[in-house]
Amino acid sequence: MSASSVDSLDDVLAARLATQRERQRYRRRVTTTGKVAEKGGHLRREGRETLAFCSNDYLGLAGDPRLAQALAEGARRFGTGGGASHLVCGHSEAHEHLESRLAELAGCQRAVLFSSGYQANLGVISTLLGRGDVALHDRLNHASLLDATRLAGATLERYTHRDSDDCGARLSEVEAARRKLVVTDGVFSMDGDTAELEPLATHCERHRAWLMIDDAHGFGVLGAHGGGTREAQGLDPSRIAVTVGTLGKAFGTQGAFVAGSETLIDALIQFSRPYIYTTSLSPALAWATLTSLDIVRDEPERRVHLLSLIERFRRGAASLSEFDLHLTPSATPIQPLVIGSSWSTTGEGRQENRQGVNEAAALRLSAELESAGLWCSAIRPPSVPAGTSRLRFTLSAAHTHEDIDRLLSALFTTARRLSSARRRLA
Ligand SMILES: *Cc1c(COP(=O)(O)O)cnc(C)c1O
Repeated sequence: MSASSVDSLDDVLAARLATQRERQRYRRRVTTTGKVAEKGGHLRREGRETLAFCSNDYLGLAGDPRLAQALAEGARRFGTGGGASHLVCGHSEAHEHLESRLAELAGCQRAVLFSSGYQANLGVISTLLGRGDVALHDRLNHASLLDATRLAGATLERYTHRDSDDCGARLSEVEAARRKLVVTDGVFSMDGDTAELEPLATHCERHRAWLMIDDAHGFGVLGAHGGGTREAQGLDPSRIAVTVGTLGKAFGTQGAFVAGSETLIDALIQFSRPYIYTTSLSPALAWATLTSLDIVRDEPERRVHLLSLIERFRRGAASLSEFDLHLTPSATPIQPLVIGSSWSTTGEGRQENRQGVNEAAALRLSAELESAGLWCSAIRPPSVPAGTSRLRFTLSAAHTHEDIDRLLSALFTTARRLSSARRRLA
């Protein structure tokens, strides 16, 4: 084969990028200055002051001076970097302390740290499953859980979102599989609703399947002690085989953990390639996260304030249904507004399909909010099913009641203006 018959790397990639732009799927990073939670969600976005409703800093800890102080102290005591993998010489006293505190929070025998939630999910599923095994997922699970299943080479099956009976029915269909793992998010990242763990656990017990929960958005936020979805639902920890939590959301730092039995954690340390072949999480960050855990324990008022913000937002936003914008059944800080089908009837004269118009409406609404100094994300396929594009707002204990009122007022003004413009065009 002559060299000229091989497409250049740049040509191949440029063609893919062009398609991405044509489909309006091309994404851009926005550079910010300042902290995520400074003065309650206020960020400088490309030089302009904005109020952000899109971070996962649910308790407002990412900008907390006590964490900055602990991070500096951790860096002085243990160094900024881990220096090696955990199994070589990268496992410090700071990691060890944090692991036992996290095990306690999760109500499990033991926990092990990973450098990110993405890696933790790859690490667990690829250790537990292989070819011939089945991972049965809730249809709306996080992308990292699906990627992990592919890495493991296991068969990927899905059940209807939050439908434990469908989960049970599908488990009966794969009865013959050697190993079966039921996997669910605790809090679903695009809808903000939660898995019902008790019926899932019952089905798993009946079908001899293992239950795994990824509670990235639940830890620190839900439950009286911030123990997450499981604590909030009062389920005994022994009924969940594997719990994953992350540190980059409510805890305001970075990294993740897996909690479970002594044997599970021992096996991950021995066999999990995404654990073994990587540098340990920064020990300074591990040290700072101990301070996050103290705050999560000692300042329950943060969770109480956050709940009051969620209630205030939902009470106000309910009547946006008048403009065909709909809240999802979410009691968590993730509060999406799904754009109804009437927004797809006209696309400013363009001949797009309905789905495309639904996506365009999400972008248009978020752009309008942005010019009012409010930052939220427009979520479109493939992150969510076609025709369910949405604005996704995340609330934080760093927000005030006035911040919520400002958001609601901008939403009503924008929705009213855009809907009357649509009616004129129709
Ligand atoms: C954010 C998230 C992850 C990834 O965690 P990182 O630490 O950011 O890599 C995994 N699972 C779920 C459900 C998440 O929301």
